[in-house]
Amino acid sequence: MIPVTKTYIPSLEDYNSYLKQIWQGGYLTNNGPLSRQLAGDITNFLGVPNLELLTNGTLAIQLTIKALDLQGEIITTPYSYVATTNSILWEGCEPVFVDIEEQTYCINPELIEAAITEKTSAILATHVYGYPCDVVKIQQIADKHNIKVIYDAAHAFGVKLFGESLLLHGNCSTLSFHATKLFHTAEGGAVVCKDTEVSKRVFLMKKFGHVGEDDYLDIGINAKMSELHAAMGLCILPKVNDIIASRKESSGWYDEQLEGCSLQRPAPPATLEYNYAYYPVIFSTHEIMMRARQALIDNGIGPRRYFYPSLNTLPFLKLELKRACPVSESISSRVLCLPLYTGLSKAEVAIICGITKRTLQGRVTQ
Ligand SMILES: *Cc1c(COP(=O)(O)O)cnc(C)c1O
Repeated sequence: MIPVTKTYIPSLEDYNSYLKQIWQGGYLTNNGPLSRQLAGDITNFLGVPNLELLTNGTLAIQLTIKALDLQGEIITTPYSYVATTNSILWEGCEPVFVDIEEQTYCINPELIEAAITEKTSAILATHVYGYPCDVVKIQQIADKHNIKVIYDAAHAFGVKLFGESLLLHGNCSTLSFHATKLFHTAEGGAVVCKDTEVSKRVFLMKKFGHVGEDDYLDIGINAKMSELHAAMGLCILPKVNDIIASRKESSGWYDEQLEGCSLQRPAPPATLEYNYAYYPVIFSTHEIMMRARQALIDNGIGPRRYFYPSLNTLPFLKLELKRACPVSESISSRVLCLPLYTGLSKAEVAIICGITKRTLQGRVTQ
């Protein structure tokens, strides 16, 4: 079985050495020494200011919406994981879907202004597969209309644009450290804020809004990262460059093997330093994608329809929120993410590509 992703598991010895520290210190959570160390180490690794560690990437989006005091309508992308839309709804705001670009699968900035109304408070866009949104154009639009920008950067750990972390764009960028992500803490997340005041609000709100012993700043929640999760992150962070290098190598094998096939691939900007978080391929039709998927599954390989469905079609949305997004709907009906994880071998990539190519040529595979 070749799954779509495999969680990177650090050495048990490394993890045990952190467990020993936890046992000696007797501190399991509440901004303990390991989570403080991890926050500092990630901040240095990424070169970003104001990073707050959180319980997961979904709470990161929700807390950011709260900390920025957003209300009314939030312009968002239909091509993302369901957590992006759900966070908006959970916070009592309305998602206004704007279609994506054909080449990057990120929100199409040319379509944003037409969706802005007097109720719009922000744009929440996803750096899809770690490929950047058009951050410059989006910022211009936000400045012109005096609205906030949040990036769901769950896929963008370690990605650099113009030589700097992609997370420096927008008011806030949220991260997920879920076990399936490139860098993880089993469950976890973070938010990077441009404005120190917003970051302070997140810091207070993630611990129930407590200010000192007896006072409360605002409605808070519990979104702290425990020391056991921070320990996992401390084991993995020093390996991130190796993890990215291994994924880059596997992606290169895919590129070689699939060259000349009728598969569409994202077209990233030239100044991008990518993290090789995913290997998406877009088939020419839904039927061919489904045939390739079945052929891969029949051979013990687990590709994933990521992202499907297009979020503007989610069944629980009010009818008036289900605006048509033809590009997103089309891409999500034709996409597969092929297996990509640290240590995926050249032979495995060859098997996956062989099956995919035979499907594209219309041959029955077995
Ligand atoms: C994984 C993911 C999330 C959710 O993160 P969790 O840590 O699992 O809550 C949000 N958005 C995107 C785009 C993701 O891929």
